[in-house]
Amino acid sequence: MKNATALPSDQITGYVVAGKPVTCPHCGGVRFHDRKTLMNTRGATFFNLDWLNRAAFTLTCSTCSRIEWFGREPTPGQ
Ligand SMILES: [Zn+2]
Repeated sequence: MKNATALPSDQITGYVVAGKPVTCPHCGGVRFHDRKTLMNTRGATFFNLDWLNRAAFTLTCSTCSRIEWFGREPTPGQ
């Protein structure tokens, strides 16, 4: 097990989107790994996500690892 405090680029915290705290729909967890995903045009087309404008933000639940996708950057909270 790695020491989480030594990994500032992979921090686990809560996030807020549209004024609401992000909650995992699977396990109800509120702690996530934040990651910005750059998508090339081919990948975006493949996933039918052209509206994402080549950038997406993912929050990976720290409890169950479910991945939530957002087109805008979630705001770190709590
Ligand atoms: Zn979860």
